[in-house]
Amino acid sequence: MAIQWYPGHMAKARRQVQEKLSQIDVVIEIVDARTPLSSRNPMIEELVEQKPRLVLLNKADLADTEMTKRWLEYFETEFSKSLVIDAQRGKGMNKIPEAVRSLAAPLLEKWKRKGINPRALRTLILGIPNVGKSTVINKLAGKKIANIGDKPGVTKKQQWIKVGGEMELLDTPGILWPKFEDEEVGYRLALTGAIKEEIFDFQDTVVFFLKFMKVHYPQLLKQRYDLEELPEDVVDLFDAVGKRRGCLVAGGLIDYDRVAEIIFRDFRHGKFGPVTLETP
Ligand code: GDP
Repeated sequence: MAIQWYPGHMAKARRQVQEKLSQIDVVIEIVDARTPLSSRNPMIEELVEQKPRLVLLNKADLADTEMTKRWLEYFETEFSKSLVIDAQRGKGMNKIPEAVRSLAAPLLEKWKRKGINPRALRTLILGIPNVGKSTVINKLAGKKIANIGDKPGVTKKQQWIKVGGEMELLDTPGILWPKFEDEEVGYRLALTGAIKEEIFDFQDTVVFFLKFMKVHYPQLLKQRYDLEELPEDVVDLFDAVGKRRGCLVAGGLIDYDRVAEIIFRDFRHGKFGPVTLETP
């Protein structure tokens, strides 16, 4: 699912998130481990301010493990911790309550000082479309709560889900918009399925991808298309993949649209193996 964001739409989403945030002790932000910065909302810092924040690097099964380690460090700050998860298979999720608790330590301390009885810590899942918010909520709840692919702007009564004894989770996530004015960010979001691929020119997206792969994962590219060498020029690379995949039109010319489609789908379906599209 992808959402078209308009100024009015963004303002409304922002308002909805702000309303939710007022009740929250710890924010749980989900990003796509393959593209942790491009899959963040540009206003996240301003919105969340100095609330303690847990960043979940989701879809880690599709990302490069070494790069994920580096991203993990990147997100560790004074106010934030990070965890690597694969929400689809439920991996890494059992560490969430403990991380939330340690992030809330100053708050728990404050309650203690003031003689306030501690209550369950209130958390909210936040993120752009398709990063896995519903999947995480359902896994934490142990049952199907959020509709996979929930749309923003659809209001329903909010409820707190108990996660263990010490944590509660709002059953509706805060949905934020991605930022795709920047071309490269847009290409990463299109490749990872965060925005409709039609928003971006297919061939341009694939050219970006091939150039990136040539530098960062040349071996995976060679393996996938059974190429001994990677041609210098990206058009020659299109030709080589096209020939391998039989994407020819009349006169023996290469059908570039089809080649782009094949490469794009291969990435979407994880056929290259784990790949991270951006470095810290
Ligand atoms: P939301 O829009 O943020 O609520 O995202 P969803 O929870 O609907 O997930 C979007 C898509 O990503 C769905 O097809 C999920 O099955 C898939 N997904 C979620 N988490 C993971 C994960 O850890 N690994 C993989 N491979 N896919 C995931």
